[in-house]
Amino acid sequence: MNVYDSELVGSLLEECDYTLTQDMSEADAVFLNTCAIREKAEETVHNRLDNLHVLKRTKPNMILGVLGCMAQNLKDDILESRPYVDVILGPDSYRRIPEIIKARQGEMDNFVDTRLSKFEVYDDLFPSRHDGVNAWISIMRGCDKFCTFCIVPFTRGRERSRSIQSVVDETINAVSQGFVEITLLGQNVNSYRTPDGEFPELLKAVAKVEGVKRIRYTSPHPQDIDDALLEVMRDHSNICNYIHLPLQAGSDRILKRMNRTYTQQEFLDLVDKIYEYMPNCSISTDIIVGFPGETEDEFLETLDVVKKVHFDSSFMFKYSSRPGTKAAEYTDQISEDDKQNRLERLIVLQRKNTLSANLRHVGNTLSVMVEKVSKKSDSQWAGRTDGNMWVVFDKTDEQIKDIVNVKIEDAKGITLFGSRIHTEELIHEAA
Ligand code: SF4
Repeated sequence: MNVYDSELVGSLLEECDYTLTQDMSEADAVFLNTCAIREKAEETVHNRLDNLHVLKRTKPNMILGVLGCMAQNLKDDILESRPYVDVILGPDSYRRIPEIIKARQGEMDNFVDTRLSKFEVYDDLFPSRHDGVNAWISIMRGCDKFCTFCIVPFTRGRERSRSIQSVVDETINAVSQGFVEITLLGQNVNSYRTPDGEFPELLKAVAKVEGVKRIRYTSPHPQDIDDALLEVMRDHSNICNYIHLPLQAGSDRILKRMNRTYTQQEFLDLVDKIYEYMPNCSISTDIIVGFPGETEDEFLETLDVVKKVHFDSSFMFKYSSRPGTKAAEYTDQISEDDKQNRLERLIVLQRKNTLSANLRHVGNTLSVMVEKVSKKSDSQWAGRTDGNMWVVFDKTDEQIKDIVNVKIEDAKGITLFGSRIHTEELIHEAA
């Protein structure tokens, strides 16, 4: 979402005749687009601001801005501790950038706007994208779920969705610029609703756009995955059979305390339902260990669900307390040592699961979209499967953005290795 928002800000700056530079010391304006979801992300921004202060001393006219969730959440703190920051804009205020740039030429003081909007979805703005395979498209903003550990509802405001037509228009625009994969984004992507339809209708409309080879979306909430969505995914070959399904915790008591609105059994039933519709669907997840009050037995329940579901991959985190959220006020916080110990045990289990999930593909032929030259060798490509797994294979006559068949021969860590199969070879094998 932040990459997408940065691309939106990039297009607003281009309207003011700015161009992108890769060299910070050349920049006339630097905007840090920030995330507040974890403490570590905030620390990174503070360190970056300290470094930029040194640059700003040598270039006093350089505009330095902080955008996004931290701007929303910590504006007073930033204004007080880093008065050299010129601009602070929350996630609903990016449209003000041209006006600020203009006013800046008349040397104004700090500019702060962190009002949250009930309506802003940047419907009519197209982001400034650069070369690549995948175009991110934000379809909704904000979140109404209020998980007790999460700062997003406070920094991003209430849920609101763009029109289906504007998402389709942006998809057509992205395809015309050469992008072949579309990833639909939202804090709660499948809470998307408009008078013209909900998320399944939107997916159908995007799948029909000519030239879209693959569609992904992130992040859904398990509560909003229903039969209509799974049917659309099953019935459209360009919608990837891949779901990121955040579990967060395996114990019912902790799930309730997190306000996740599902039980362990409901989550497991949903996984079964996904496989009924798409037997080869890949499923990844997010897990938080050491949520306040989590006992050793409750953590073991999380491990148990991980064993049962056998996620293809997981994003695993230690609980990070976010001031302002309900969970930050719980008095039974878990020690750093226990959180670290639980995280390490979870990672060991997930690594095993990922490897065995990947090994089950050895001998199979998978569709792979060629995305880039492999980091290890110029004579090899790296691409992703429909299920979001990376595959490395020797180059033959294919190009970046082609979808080709690759026979999987090995799996190491999180990567699959194979060889390109040309159509004739496939026909021969089938014969
Ligand atoms: S659904 Fe996601 S974004 Fe919304 S509060 Fe929960 S974790 Fe945060």
